[in-house]
Amino acid sequence: MRPLLIWDIDGTLLEPRGIGRAALNEAFAAMYGIAAGFDGLDFAGAADHDLWLQATAQSHVRPTADETAKFFITYRNRLEALLTRTPLRPLPGVSTLIPLLSQMGWPMVLGTGNIRAGAYAKLSAAGIANYFPGGGFSQPNLTRADILQSAAAGRDPATVIVLGDTPRDIHAAHANRFVILGVATGRFSEASLAQEGADLVLPNLGSPDQVMMALTTLANGRGPGVAP
Ligand SMILES: [Mg+2]
Repeated sequence: MRPLLIWDIDGTLLEPRGIGRAALNEAFAAMYGIAAGFDGLDFAGAADHDLWLQATAQSHVRPTADETAKFFITYRNRLEALLTRTPLRPLPGVSTLIPLLSQMGWPMVLGTGNIRAGAYAKLSAAGIANYFPGGGFSQPNLTRADILQSAAAGRDPATVIVLGDTPRDIHAAHANRFVILGVATGRFSEASLAQEGADLVLPNLGSPDQVMMALTTLANGRGPGVAP
């Protein structure tokens, strides 16, 4: 049986264009009248609920659980409106690679810091939502490691491969004893992902052959190193 692939979204599958941040800021302004509430926060590999806690703290807002729920509904609506005007594009190679992997029978799910509705809004706008039947998503009090654990749904860690673009993906994967293929299409270089401990690193997903070789290497339990 092929390993389960757990995919990060922003910077791995889709170009990171700041649309998530813009929608979070719009929702925050709509609820509290505070502009740019999410500015200054580190989004790379962060979960939406963590960002929410940091944004409320820096604006001295103490939200109730109901307000938190309402905020994320507002966020989803703002995100969908923004995506209608500015669709996200899959990163180079993704539109070819994902259908190919699916055809070959690789099971695929998401392991993302997006809330579920946000994840599917982004992937739908990019035309690849149907390849990902579920996964782990941002929820209150879940770390990124928890999110990946939830995505793996009890599979033997030796049969899971994570794909992500940030050191947070790498640390969360290793906390679960999953291997990770780092992809340098986000903010972090190949060298920095390798230094953070990614089991293999690729510059991008542009070559299906190169990705297949890296996945096969990881599936066979080899690494670490940098893929040829
Ligand atoms: Mg990412």
